[in-house]
Amino acid sequence: MFRIKADDTVEVRKGKDRGKRGKVRQVLVKEGRAVVAEINVMKKHVKPGQEARQAGIIDIEAPIQMANLALVCAKCGKPTKVGTRILEDGTKARFCKTCGELT
Ligand SMILES: [Zn+2]
Repeated sequence: MFRIKADDTVEVRKGKDRGKRGKVRQVLVKEGRAVVAEINVMKKHVKPGQEARQAGIIDIEAPIQMANLALVCAKCGKPTKVGTRILEDGTKARFCKTCGELT
């Protein structure tokens, strides 16, 4: 199970965007990838009538391997590993292995 989900802030650990942070727009579970805002931006040529009204070059955010992403803890602001903990009421919660706070 992947520990990253939509709306999480992540930091890129590998590749051309290494060190950048962005918000997860979408998680592609089957592919093990995620689309992250402003990260892994590629230029794409389009013809009118496909994805754009006018022909030209558009920027698209290509999915990036989740193995190359680290969750940024909302509490301590550091890229961290996440653990899963079962709460007293039986629900699963993620927690930050750096500061120990639930995230
Ligand atoms: Zn933390």
